[in-house]
Amino acid sequence: MNLILFGPPAAGKGTQAKRLVDTRGMIQLSTGDMLRAAIASGSELGQRVAGIMQRGELVSDEIVVELIESRLPEAEAAGGAIFDGFPRTLAQAQALDVMLQRRGSKIDKVIRLKVDDEALMHRVAGRFAESGRPDDNPDSFKVRLAAYNAQTAPLLPYYEDQDKLVEVDGMGTIEVVAAGVDRALDGR
Ligand code: AMP
Repeated sequence: MNLILFGPPAAGKGTQAKRLVDTRGMIQLSTGDMLRAAIASGSELGQRVAGIMQRGELVSDEIVVELIESRLPEAEAAGGAIFDGFPRTLAQAQALDVMLQRRGSKIDKVIRLKVDDEALMHRVAGRFAESGRPDDNPDSFKVRLAAYNAQTAPLLPYYEDQDKLVEVDGMGTIEVVAAGVDRALDGR
């Protein structure tokens, strides 16, 4: 089963993905985590993306598509993946479909976590204080939210047309949202 966890920044995608890894043995493919690892390693890729990420802008489609492609064999071996923070543009979604198709696979479900903007701002203020993640500062976060609304939200009709989209209320506690994700996955 290949699943996309979809939603704005700080909607809880990473938290829910990690829970599914623990409870269902799926693997998580987070392009944000991969890019942060590249920055931490000091690689050439890391140096190229650090400023873009800090400002809250999207890195190029080519970079993230390549990162995902390199992990698809691992995902296949695990029986599927949870895509977290990818795709974020229509070009990425189309590239993902082509890559999976080539491997005889496909996206099975897209779970959209719905959280309102005010709650997101509140959440991210807490996260910034805790983790100090540089792109959680209020200015960068506004850019990230704008990028989501302009470039990522338009993907919703793409998946709705394919009858893959399921909406889950992302406003509750982690446990309540997790129960909604489980219901969406198990078709209850
Ligand atoms: P995230 O951890 O998913 O919130 O991603 C953090 C940052 O990494 C984003 O604000 C972007 O700068 C970059 N990023 C992560 N995933 C993507 C993607 N699929 N496309 C473009 N940029 C991405």
